[in-house]
Amino acid sequence: MDKKFLTKLLKSLGERLAGKNANAIIELLVGKKDVNEFKIAEKTGLTINQVRNVLYKLAHHNLISAIRKKDKRKGWYIYYWTLDSIRALELLIEMIDKEIKRIEHEIKKRETKSFYVCPICETEFSEETALLYEFTCPECGEVLQLVDSQKYLKELKKRATTLEQEIIEVRKIRDELMEEKKKRETKKKAARQKKKERKKKTAGKKKTMKKSAARGKRKRSGKKKKESRKRKK
Ligand SMILES: [Zn+2]
Repeated sequence: MDKKFLTKLLKSLGERLAGKNANAIIELLVGKKDVNEFKIAEKTGLTINQVRNVLYKLAHHNLISAIRKKDKRKGWYIYYWTLDSIRALELLIEMIDKEIKRIEHEIKKRETKSFYVCPICETEFSEETALLYEFTCPECGEVLQLVDSQKYLKELKKRATTLEQEIIEVRKIRDELMEEKKKRETKKKAARQKKKERKKKTAGKKKTMKKSAARGKRKRSGKKKKESRKRKK
């Protein structure tokens, strides 16, 4: 797992969703659990309100969650935050996927339709609209020119390729994180199972001890009965 790359991805996502202050906060949260919000403020040099502002925005997208604990001394609640890296990467994948689809749509449009532009206002028109204005700009009256989309198309295609590579990388990291999570959970489950079995064993021992004790008692009382019968005779 390339943790540096993961942090970079999460920081850029955080900044897009919650502004520049998210950078330092995400950096602090990656790979940790239940981080005290006052500690975040202290370590990032941000005010508690700035920190909460970012955290609430990230929470709005379900990227982080909090538990609250009462501070016994001060009597107020403190929130402890955990970043859900898998959910964050899933959102990032969704966003990249959407962007790729938008670009593909734009490429198709540019390849199949003509566009016109006013050389002075630089406003662009579809062929239908240009025809409606008889190929003169409605603002300044200049004759509209046919747009050469080749350069723009090249840029769009390059961008799409970059994004397609990016989404593969992000998916790979997400899968690695999910694999790690699964391993952690199996380990925990195994530990729980072991504990249960150990409890059963000790409980079982106690039961057999009780049983044998009871059996002993019965034997003893049986003897007593026989003895008392003997005495009666
Ligand atoms: Zn014009």
